[in-house]
Amino acid sequence: MKLTFLGTGTSFGIPVIGCDCNTCTSDDPRDRRTRHAALVHQEDGAVLIDAPPELRLQLTSVRVAAVDAVWITHCHADHIHGVDDLRALSAHRRRRLDVHAGAECEATLRRRFPYIFSGYRPPPGTTKPELQLQTIEPLDRVRLGPFAFQALPVQHGPMTVFGFRVDDLAYITDAKSLGPGTREAIDGVSTLVLNALWFGNPHPTHLNVEEAIELAGHIGAERVYLTHLTHRLRHADLEQRLPPSIRPAYDGLTVDL
Ligand SMILES: [Zn+2]
Ligand SMILES: [Zn+2]
Ligand SMILES: [Zn+2]
Repeated sequence: MKLTFLGTGTSFGIPVIGCDCNTCTSDDPRDRRTRHAALVHQEDGAVLIDAPPELRLQLTSVRVAAVDAVWITHCHADHIHGVDDLRALSAHRRRRLDVHAGAECEATLRRRFPYIFSGYRPPPGTTKPELQLQTIEPLDRVRLGPFAFQALPVQHGPMTVFGFRVDDLAYITDAKSLGPGTREAIDGVSTLVLNALWFGNPHPTHLNVEEAIELAGHIGAERVYLTHLTHRLRHADLEQRLPPSIRPAYDGLTVDL
């Protein structure tokens, strides 16, 4: 099983429009971070995590045209506003693609994209994403293609976000704290992904780097990757400042699990 980070930036993406800071003007390709997405994959299957605005560019860059299912962590714009690009994936399958999302997020998807989720039929010769919503319940176990996913509720301010565990990987983004049952559910994972915004200045709905390091220490995974990073963090600087077991992720990084 492999994990590929497709997008490791926050909602603005990096470079940020109009910003000439060191990260936004960096020559290091690892400092270009698209909005959040990832892919859990192996030879016989793949699950896409989130559908951000750059989804087409992300999937073409890794040459993935087929997935078994989509897992939406939550319905903030940076995680779902590329949902129309799922059209290519459902067309490739020639049948509906399951999109797993929490109940609150499902309602948002239906409201925000009625042409996809309200029964609208496109005129002959045209297409729309053919998607089937499936409700994620906290700590639920669900088979997605060849993978056994378990839903990990985490708190993102007032919103519940669904990370997941699959085998010895726990993947958590857009968290400020773990939700009920999640600490127990991730016991014994060897690879952990956590979100981190920046150093200092605690944020009400996201972990900063110090908080992510502390949480990672409690969980005790052998290796940890940080994602959902802002332009206040340059990849090379962050890499130097982190303990060796914690690495910054970057767009296009594939990890063997
Ligand atoms: Zn910047
Ligand atoms: Zn969010
Ligand atoms: Zn986000």
